[in-house]
Amino acid sequence: MSGLAERIAATKAAIAAAAREVGRDPGSITLEAATKTQSAETVRAAIQGGVTVCGENRVQELTEKLDAFAYDGAKEVHFIGHLQTNKVKQVVGRVDLIESIDSLHLLQAVSDCAVRLDRVQDILLEVNIAGETSKSGFSPSEVLFGAEKALKMPGVRLRGVMCIPPAAQDVGGNRKFFQKTYQIYVDIISKMVDNRKDVDCLSMGMSRDFADAVREGATLVRVGTGLFGPRG
Ligand SMILES: *Cc1c(COP(=O)(O)O)cnc(C)c1O
Repeated sequence: MSGLAERIAATKAAIAAAAREVGRDPGSITLEAATKTQSAETVRAAIQGGVTVCGENRVQELTEKLDAFAYDGAKEVHFIGHLQTNKVKQVVGRVDLIESIDSLHLLQAVSDCAVRLDRVQDILLEVNIAGETSKSGFSPSEVLFGAEKALKMPGVRLRGVMCIPPAAQDVGGNRKFFQKTYQIYVDIISKMVDNRKDVDCLSMGMSRDFADAVREGATLVRVGTGLFGPRG
């Protein structure tokens, strides 16, 4: 096994261990490889090594890797970075899930684009869970309103929420943010009865804190450095 395949296996084992600690089924959590800055070749190796979901941050990298068939063999490709409305048409219909819908403006643009393509795009709403001014995303008080809007738009299917808390200062430092995001996720499910079957994705946790995210209910964890090593 290459070092990469070993790290993938070790990360999956750590996810499963955290899940069991809190009585969750390890099979209910998916490891997503955050592949920004990684070459098509490395992405292929990750898929060979057991990665099933790839998350890309930048539109140009996404399109280059799609054109190079880098994700062949993966079950899903997600977009996880900040998406400008003028680049929406390069992403809609080309990824399985856009995790980073961070404003009503972008939500509308994605739905409109999908309608023009006669498609329905799966999306998550990004929550700015710590209220950081440097980050985009719906504030915790706006996100239910955003979810209501999304549920009425013909071009999108709301699958859940994602968050990117601050870099944790100490062990367990982000648990409170994961708890808050889980609560928002549950609120969306309980308030939107007709569509609850579609809402099945809570994307939170990165290399340093994915175990806590799993303990607090994540269904998708996004790991980059922990699989690929530090980004150059
Ligand atoms: C880079 C990135 C990750 C992974 O971060 P690591 O700390 O390298 O695991 C997860 N989510 C998003 C949105 C990212 O941009």
